[in-house]
Formats: sequence, C-alpha cells, structure tokens
Amino acid sequence: MKAYRIVYLGSDSDFLSSLESSLQQVGWPILREPGDADGTRRALTFNPDLVLWDCDNDQPGEGFPLEMLRGAGFTTQPVMSVVRRDDPRSTINSLAGGAADYIAKPLSEMPVPRLLAALNSGRRQLRIDWFGRVVDESNNQVKGMLANLSDPAYVVKPDYQILWMNRAAEEIFGEGQRGGTCHHVFYERTEPCEACAKSEGMARWRAALKNGKTYRFVSVLARNGKGEIERVVAGTDITPDEEVQKIHKTFVANVSHDLRTPLAAIDQYVSILNDGLAGELTDEQKAYIDIIQRSSFRLHNLVENLIDANKILSGEFKLRMEVVKIEDVLGLVLESLKAQAADRGLEIQTQVAEALPPVYVDRARIAQVIANIAGNSIKFTEQGMIQIRAGFMPRDDGKVMVSVEDTGIGIPREDLGKIFELFYRVENDQVYVEEGAGLGLSISREIIRTHGGTLWAESMEGAGSAFHFTLPVHSGERQDAAGAQGL
Ligand code: ADP
Repeated sequence: MKAYRIVYLGSDSDFLSSLESSLQQVGWPILREPGDADGTRRALTFNPDLVLWDCDNDQPGEGFPLEMLRGAGFTTQPVMSVVRRDDPRSTINSLAGGAADYIAKPLSEMPVPRLLAALNSGRRQLRIDWFGRVVDESNNQVKGMLANLSDPAYVVKPDYQILWMNRAAEEIFGEGQRGGTCHHVFYERTEPCEACAKSEGMARWRAALKNGKTYRFVSVLARNGKGEIERVVAGTDITPDEEVQKIHKTFVANVSHDLRTPLAAIDQYVSILNDGLAGELTDEQKAYIDIIQRSSFRLHNLVENLIDANKILSGEFKLRMEVVKIEDVLGLVLESLKAQAADRGLEIQTQVAEALPPVYVDRARIAQVIANIAGNSIKFTEQGMIQIRAGFMPRDDGKVMVSVEDTGIGIPREDLGKIFELFYRVENDQVYVEEGAGLGLSISREIIRTHGGTLWAESMEGAGSAFHFTLPVHSGERQDAAGAQGL
C-alpha cells in the first residue's frame, strides 16, 4: 500500500500520539503543525496527501476554514476535521463547511480505513473537478463559436434568466440584458414561449425580432461544469432576400392575374352550356359540366387567395371601412356556409348576443374571415356541429368577439402556433384529402390585425377546434385604424 503523507494541523498532543502509533503500523509519515499561518506554510512543504484540521483551532464564530486552506496552497488535498467526541456541533459545522470527513478524538478505533476513504473521495472529487473543467472548456469553445456568429445566440437558465448573449444579440436587444428573462427581453411576452417551455430537449421555433428580421431558432439543453442545466440557443436569419421577395411577388401577381382571364372564359362558356345555348345537354353532360364548374370555383378561390396573400406581403392591402353590425356581416356568408355544412351532413348553429355595439370594419373582408374559419371547420369536421357565436368583451374599451367552434379532427399542439403561417397545412391525411393551400388563416389573421383585433385558435387533437377573433367596437368618431390605410 502506498505510504500516504498526513498533516495534522492542531495542538492536541494526546490525539497526535495515538494517531502516530496507528499510522506507524502502516508506515505513513505524519507531520504536526499548529493551525496558524506559519504552521500551514510549513505543512505545505511537507507535500501532504491529506490534511487533518483540528476544530479546536477554530476561532469562535468562524466556520470550517476550507477556503483558507485552499487559498494557502492545499488546492487538491482532501481536508478532514478532527473534532471532540462530545461536540456534535463542530462535526456538523465542519462537514457542512466542506470537510471530506471527520475523526473524533480521543481516538477509539484504528483511523486508517477512514483516512483511506477520505483519500479516495478526494481522488473522486479530483476526477469530478477535472470533468467539470473539461465540460466548462468545451462549453467555452461552443460559446466562442457562437460569439462570432453574425446571427443572435444566447444562453439561459432553466428559469429563462439570460446568462450570456453574443454580440449579434446585443446589437438587436441592447447590452446589459443579463438577468432578464428571454421571453420578456426578446419577445416582449410575460409568459415563457411555448416551444421552449414545453420542449424536453431540443426545441425549434421561428420568430420575427425587433430588427424586422425573421429567424429560425434551435435550442438545446446542456450542462455546465457544475452540472447545472443551461439552454443554449442559436438563431439563423431566414428573412427572404429582398430581391428574391420582389421577384416572387411579381411572379405570383402576374401568374394570378393571368389565370383570372382563362378562368373567366371557362365560367362564361360553362354558363352558355348550362343555359342550353349550345343545345340540350344530357344528364351525363350536365354532371361533367358540374365538375368543371366546381373545379373552376376552386381555382378561382386559390387565385383570389394568392392575390390576397401577395397584397399582404407587399403591403398593398386596402380596407373599405364602414360602421356595421356584426350580425349583418354574418348574414353575408351564413346561407352559403349552411349549404356547405348540409352537404356534409353537419349543422351550423349561430348565437348572437343582444344589442351588440356596431364595429367599424371592411364588411366584405370580415365576412371573408368568417367564411374561411367556418369553412375550415366544415372541412375538418366529420360529425357533430359547428357553432358560431358573437358576443361582447368589455376589456380594453370593449370588443366584439366572434367564435367558431367545431367538433372536428382538432389540431396537434405543435402545429397550433404554425397554422397562421403562409402555406402551412398540418401534415395529416385527414387534412390532405381536403382542398386548400394553407393561405386562408394567414390572410384572415392579417385582416383582423389590420382592423386592430386579434385572431387566435384553441384546439384539442381528436376533439375539436375553436377559432376566436376580436374587433374593437365603433367608438363614435371615425377611427383612424391602421387598416384604413393598408398595412
Ligand atoms: P387551408 O384550409 O387552405 O389548408 P388555412 O390557412 O385556412 O389553409 O388552414 C391552415 C391549416 O390549419 C389547415 O390546412 C389545417 O391543417 C389547419 N386547420 C385550420 N382550421 C382547422 C380546423 N377547424 N380543424 C382542424 N384543422 C384546422
């Protein structure tokens, strides 16, 4: 067995002599020094493997002096306390203060096994410290890489407190944000963002930041050298290039407008055929014409939606505002919705609260929103019913709230935040059998936003969905809604 070198910092001669006689049996050298600065300095030159600190050295009110001993040069050695057998307080204090173990005096048993155990735990601690340093070093290398990114990156604690930000993030959000919470500082939210709060390991999300750019974020959980969990987040700028965006807009605008002309011709000739102007039609021919008409109607919808989406993207979205009652707007689309629902064996129920204040809106656009969200409810509901309600919310100077609820397929939780993005459709066979291009909800949300309202969704997969939107009530004088001038 290796001969470990032991230092006893204390002045209890009885204890020392019984310790010496025990250590002689295993051939371990021991040095005694008093627990003062000179004694500690001399003890260091002995190059001990283990330090025994006699708690009788302690000044009243001072705790176990582990920091002092580390500072004095015993940087890696385990330190054990030597305590009086009848003094449990010193025992507890020394262990709480970082002692590797304690030895009670007067000695009543062979101390070597206990000293060996402390030496082993010391080595274990050294290994742990070493691993901690390796983890810290690799984390620092990762941070070094992130620090030089031109896109934002940051590190937060599990309670979302910001620990570190790179320069790109500081340029967007300003310096000195350490200690704030990421959802508040970055996204101006009072609650943590869903993607981060709900994810167990890696999370991904997109966000538009203060600088007007859109980023795709990826975050991972990592541990620092102390074993504490941190979330490391890095963003990638996915803002479409302006030139590409311009080409895309012009392309979509040209194609959509060019599609309108042949579509109008199809409609015109279908009417001629339907009216019998080209001769009497057989039942089979009528059925074919019906298919042409439905397909042309779908194409019409798609083209109109593309034109709308393009206007939204290019900020050319104009509203024709007037003071109207929400039930009148509902009336514009209800008959057609009821017919669509009946085709699928569904019922639409409506409930409009009495004496609702009027709203100041573009009636055709709000009707379009209702038609879109209720149309989706019809598409994605196999059985049950669709309820459309309009009520009053007294909050924030008063709002009219319209809700469309269904008992349909519902929307998976992870898709709920994305369905309002342009062209987003839930990847699901029940969705893909239905026609659609993933444009309706993004257009609807933009329409409601330009009216000063909010459109949001709640859903439970397999149970149904509820879409709600609010509109500020008409306050008397004409409002200068942002929407009156476009986006
Ligand atoms: P579209 O209906 O043309 O696909 P939308 O933008 O209107 O596009 O809707 C986007 C997606 O949101 C749909 O494809 C569907 O996956 C989902 N969705 C919308 N409304 C509902 C609903 N009531 N029930 C289930 N899923 C819905």
